[in-house]
Amino acid sequence: MNNSFSDLNLNSNIVEGLKKQGITVPTAIQSSSIIPAIENKDIIGEAFTGSGKTLAYLIPLFHKIDTTKREMQGIILAPTHELAIQIEDQIKLLAQNSDVPVTSLSIIGDVNINNQIKKLKDIKPHIIVGSTGRILDLIQKKKITAHTIKTIVIDEADNLLDPKRALVTKNIIKTTMRDRQLMIFSASIKAETLETAKTLMKEPLIIKGEDKPQINPNIEHMFIVCERRDKFETLRKLLVAVKPEKAIIFVNDNDDIELTTVKLNYHSKDCFAMTGKISKEDRKLAIESFKNGKIKILVSSDVTARGLDVEGITHVFHLDLPLKLNEYLHRAGRTARGDAHGTSICVTTIKQLSIIKKYEREFNVEFKQKKVFGGILEDYNYSLEVKNDNSENKSYNNKFNKSKFHK
Ligand code: AMP
Repeated sequence: MNNSFSDLNLNSNIVEGLKKQGITVPTAIQSSSIIPAIENKDIIGEAFTGSGKTLAYLIPLFHKIDTTKREMQGIILAPTHELAIQIEDQIKLLAQNSDVPVTSLSIIGDVNINNQIKKLKDIKPHIIVGSTGRILDLIQKKKITAHTIKTIVIDEADNLLDPKRALVTKNIIKTTMRDRQLMIFSASIKAETLETAKTLMKEPLIIKGEDKPQINPNIEHMFIVCERRDKFETLRKLLVAVKPEKAIIFVNDNDDIELTTVKLNYHSKDCFAMTGKISKEDRKLAIESFKNGKIKILVSSDVTARGLDVEGITHVFHLDLPLKLNEYLHRAGRTARGDAHGTSICVTTIKQLSIIKKYEREFNVEFKQKKVFGGILEDYNYSLEVKNDNSENKSYNNKFNKSKFHK
């Protein structure tokens, strides 16, 4: 395992750029794939979301792309629009932080094709990220220059190479030059995917992934639904109902952290605002006071809670949901240290229910819906509420029932 990105003989700008993003130690998949990827080897990598797989293929792409040419050099295929946008965000972030002028464009279906054609012509992006159908369409229309593509990455390959979708994916690959490199990443590589992949590759290097981190079974996951404007009031009632011994409330924005803390302290809670603005000394003092119980509740963002390892946290509250899926795992893991039990409670809006559903799928856990009633945290029975509720909640209940949210 490599302990730093400098050991991987990367362009130093990339290493510096990663450092700015707080990324200094390669993950397992990055350690095993970056060097062979730079050497143009075909790769089949088993890697789950959160393992650092995106940078495992983006870093070699950044290293190899000839930025002196305004030429399309890489295609990244992703099964969902959401994933394509996330990948493109990582490209833009690294380009900005590293000063390596790699350009990119996301090409997804459902977006006006003429605008995409114009952008392809104007930007001549080095990397194209997107969905297979639209990319193949644009290759056939000769708007994407397949013959200049040096690397194709298939993210979530189980999905893109499954029998229903494999044909389009294969057709894209066939349009590129024979000596292009192909990298395939997937959370789990099924035998049939491996067989299909091997027909498309020259002596691929197969990298087995690590086991997916398991979420601590001693954590109970819950959520409460309310309107956005009622989030604070819901949190306040929640704190009264569950009386946490020690808790972290996660809030995404510095100003909101301060506001939440001021409002909670007005209701005589022993809270401290862990914002990015406080000095190192104050941060140290706050953590000490949190450890010894003088402060019962820390209000913090993911960034300001980084490296915080405190025993005895009974509850984690998410007033805002984390911006990244995996961050939920880190947040919830602050509670239930050792043999202790803990509770992680999300305060969500109706719109955010799809994210809760994603957590359930991704981390294989069950979230119980709750409601604070008469100062007590209770299970919430949706269907009973339908008749007497207002129209927004009614549609929520209907949607919720239809969505088979419960396993
Ligand atoms: P992914 O598995 O690509 O979805 O990455 C999940 C998250 O991990 C992203 O937010 C990355 O920025 C972050 N990440 C990727 N590589 C590293 C690393 N070597 N060290 C710390 N964080 C990383």
